[in-house]
Amino acid sequence: MQADNHCACAPARILIIYTGGTIGMIENPKTGALENFEWAQFKQHVPELERFPYHIDAISFDTPIDSSDMEPNQWGEMCRVIADNYANYDGFVLLHGTDTMAFTASALSFMLEGLAKPVIVTGSQLPISQLRTDGKENLLTSIEIAAARGGDGLPRVPEVCIFFENKLLRGNRTSKVNSEGFNAFHSPNLPSLAHAGIHIKYRDHLIRRADPTQTLTPHYHLDSNVMCLTLFPGIQREAVDAVFSIPGLRAIVLKTYGSGNAPQKPWFVERLRRLNERDIIVVNTTQCSLGTVEMGRYETSLQLIKAGVLGGYDTTLECVLTKLMYLLGHDYTTEQIIRLMNTSLVGEVTIEQPQA
Ligand code: ASP
Repeated sequence: MQADNHCACAPARILIIYTGGTIGMIENPKTGALENFEWAQFKQHVPELERFPYHIDAISFDTPIDSSDMEPNQWGEMCRVIADNYANYDGFVLLHGTDTMAFTASALSFMLEGLAKPVIVTGSQLPISQLRTDGKENLLTSIEIAAARGGDGLPRVPEVCIFFENKLLRGNRTSKVNSEGFNAFHSPNLPSLAHAGIHIKYRDHLIRRADPTQTLTPHYHLDSNVMCLTLFPGIQREAVDAVFSIPGLRAIVLKTYGSGNAPQKPWFVERLRRLNERDIIVVNTTQCSLGTVEMGRYETSLQLIKAGVLGGYDTTLECVLTKLMYLLGHDYTTEQIIRLMNTSLVGEVTIEQPQA
């Protein structure tokens, strides 16, 4: 990765990390397909960067990529850039493709333990080189948010967020929901943390405060021996067996119905029970984007509890998969992982405390 000193002017110091995505793409005249271009070309399309009263530097992936090619080792690369430059900057803006942006934002929220500075992830639906691009607005406002300070002089948004089409969303609560509208991201179970209109209106009561006793501890090791199985009426036993017998498998996310319901067929429940005996963690998340899993509400989820399945509450798929990869990447026992899956580590899940 090469660093590129952009301009030195005023108080806040912001580092832009360019990984690729539509925001930095141009149409290949031969194939008509969109391809990424380099940071040097990118910044020519945003002369507005010079007008910020901030010191803005940029670092680029050696080869910017379409985020459909994103892998956990590249999350590690992003994490390392942030950790290596942490002391020198007040905030970070990560330019990323929209397709897997919610996975990256979720993963980074766990990997950057003790984060006390903004990491704002953004991109666009139309390339920055196009007249009607949404990229400029997204980039410029993300920089503004990354530089914002509260009344106490500390960063206003010390967490990993996605900023897109006027909304600032907690990264690990977000999913891509629209493949062509500018309003591409949604945080179904947590309101937006800020809204950008004439003013940027922050909802400070929703924004996590940094823990002053913690320092940044980056985690690089993720275990991606996880799998996701979406249930549907008519799902075949052989298909379930194929997934459940994947060599090296350590965790499965079940996408169930409604409030976390699954078929009561004995063959299905029996297979879940056997996974439990093999210490494979199974997490129940719902196919509904809004609302939470309530295990035991219906008989059809009661048998999941008996088979040792964990409730995924109101987490997004992106969040639960990356949280599992993160926890499995540590030397935790199964009991510790279960406890941490039932704990909100960085505001990724709503867990109602039982009434006293
Ligand atoms: N395929 C692109 C990517 O994720 C889509 C985008 O950026 O909007 O990199």
